[in-house]
Amino acid sequence: AEKIEILDLDGITRAITRIAHEVLEKNKGIKDLVIVGIRTGGAYLATQLQKKISEIEGQVVPLGNIDVTMYRDDFGSRSDLSVGQTDIRFSPSGQKVILVDDVLFTGRTIRAAMDALMDLGRPTNIQLAILIDRGHRELPIRPDYIGRNLPTARNEQIEVDFDDQNEAQAVHLIRA
Ligand code: 5GP
Ligand code: MG
Repeated sequence: AEKIEILDLDGITRAITRIAHEVLEKNKGIKDLVIVGIRTGGAYLATQLQKKISEIEGQVVPLGNIDVTMYRDDFGSRSDLSVGQTDIRFSPSGQKVILVDDVLFTGRTIRAAMDALMDLGRPTNIQLAILIDRGHRELPIRPDYIGRNLPTARNEQIEVDFDDQNEAQAVHLIRA
């Protein structure tokens, strides 16, 4: 298999910093803003985005996470999505929710995450931040904030490497 580097640590850091500024610009600051990551990679990135936004604004933004991967691995059948463990210690009602994931593919994970969020309350809106958009959508879902757009073949995979502090280090394209 061929392994091609898409983003190195600096590239990831710049993407997260840019997305943090875009979120703040679009929402005119952090009022009523909350961040929700999708386990596991999205939750790690959500933590990094929360740190960056909180650092820029000098105020902590609420962070939660959601698990929709209970009955599958990342590359298995996508017809049986279900919502697992969520850890959201605030009501999303009246909040602007920044939903974060590492890789966007068919969109089914995001749909499941939105369902789970809506069960907890009525957000003012939900915005989607994604590190890598690899295409192949099967649902009408598009990200508001994108680290990198990377058209892929279906049999290619994106690998996002995290270190033992759960900080993203690199992104590779794996070509079979
Ligand atoms: P979707 O539900 O959009 O088909 O797939 C998105 C979910 O599956 C994300 O949570 C993501 O972590 C995972 N995923 C899909 N394709 C890839 C991929 O190529 N690489 C990685 N690391 N995760 C993927
Ligand atoms: Mg995932």
